[in-house]
Amino acid sequence: NIDLTNQKVLILGYAMTGKSVAEFLLEQGANITINDRGDLSKDPSVTLLLSQGANIVSNGHPIELLDEGFDFIVKNPGIPYSLLIIQKALERKLPIYTDVELASWFSEAPIIGVTGSNGKTTTTSLIYQLLSNRSKGQAYLAGNIGIPSLEVAKKAQMDDDVIIELSSFQLMGIEKFKAKIAVICNIFEAHLDYHGSREEYIKAKLNLVKNLTSEDQIVYNYDQQEFQTWLANTEAERVPFAVDQVDEFVQKNGAYVIDSAIYFKDEKVAEVTDIQIPGKHNVENALAAIAVAKLKNVSNESIKQSLHQFQGVAYRIQPIGQSQGRSFFNDSKATNITATITALKSFNQSIVFVGGGLDRGNEFDELIPYLKQVRAAYLYGETKHKMKNAFELAGVSQVELFDTLDEATTAAYRAAESDETVLLSPSCASWDQFKTFEERGKVFTDLIQRLIIEEPYQE
Ligand code: ADP
Repeated sequence: NIDLTNQKVLILGYAMTGKSVAEFLLEQGANITINDRGDLSKDPSVTLLLSQGANIVSNGHPIELLDEGFDFIVKNPGIPYSLLIIQKALERKLPIYTDVELASWFSEAPIIGVTGSNGKTTTTSLIYQLLSNRSKGQAYLAGNIGIPSLEVAKKAQMDDDVIIELSSFQLMGIEKFKAKIAVICNIFEAHLDYHGSREEYIKAKLNLVKNLTSEDQIVYNYDQQEFQTWLANTEAERVPFAVDQVDEFVQKNGAYVIDSAIYFKDEKVAEVTDIQIPGKHNVENALAAIAVAKLKNVSNESIKQSLHQFQGVAYRIQPIGQSQGRSFFNDSKATNITATITALKSFNQSIVFVGGGLDRGNEFDELIPYLKQVRAAYLYGETKHKMKNAFELAGVSQVELFDTLDEATTAAYRAAESDETVLLSPSCASWDQFKTFEERGKVFTDLIQRLIIEEPYQE
């Protein structure tokens, strides 16, 4: 363990992880300064930290702070590197970490680190489910999924596993962080506003593998050819997963699908139908998670049981009810077109679509090739007219517009026929009418569940 006694640390950004970092560093005997652009003086938890010796600097990031001679900075992952104080700190060669770096210094338990452009939360949650049925030790969730990594790292013991979901922002702030098993679901998009270029984004993601040794494993998407190049320099044991490129290498080393059966190396583990969450993308997520479970010696019986139990993560193509042959899915997390395309590709049956939301100025034509199964669409929010154009161009005959999600959902519920799927997959951010995509998804789910009881279908 690293001795932090009397180390001078600057914590940039108090929200989310800052509090756990501050508490942890005080316990370690460090000398801390918390700096936030907002006003911290009214926050009771800050008052407590103040009484324990923390220095607080509110309402902006004065660069003179750097003259106090800090040993390192712990930065909230959301704060961009373009911020002046960060630029100046980099000029002074001050190490800038995110909380996961510190968590890795102090975790007694091995870390399973999960990243990717899409599928992080689903894969992380499924790994948690797969590793939770165990006789010895415990599995913990942490990281980007909303649980501060330091809180978990403090608790976890040697026989436990800490499963950390990692965003590219968090991975920018690591130096020695080392996972025992690293998982990269895929690398597509780029958060260009934050990282500047696609190369920088990929580099951040690949930070996850930079400290791996030959004792560690990297689980990665073999269907995405670029990984051959991306992983060229890692010493870690390669554990590929594949749905499409099932060649000899995958069959010898990883998880894959042949004839609707899931294999790990030469052994059959389960059937694809054991996976309860819909879509090919979720088969990929499941393969990644199963590979981890097999590396952790989880039995096939237990894997199958966990697959049956795992109903997906809330708001991500989440099944929320069934009635008289109709099924209902909440995909409120689909805040952009790509996510909605993934959802549409996940169903074979006729879809009654609910969507719309904040207008970011984009059109919706990219959806058109994927709308064949949509029989009817109930659109609301700022984007409803633009979306209507795309749906009509795609030949969807029934398109109706509403002011609110409530109205659109009620109409969709009433219109749904037997064997149809009602899908909320907004394709837009929620902020025109809701605080968060979670709130939007909850409104949808609550209303559908109420309608199932109050307005049962007559059959
Ligand atoms: P993340 O945590 O990376 O945002 P989630 O598991 O929350 O990922 O899934 C968010 C959305 O991304 C899903 O609703 C789905 O549309 C899409 N998605 C999930 N997994 C994959 C995958 N393996 N490949 C492509 N898209 C995916």
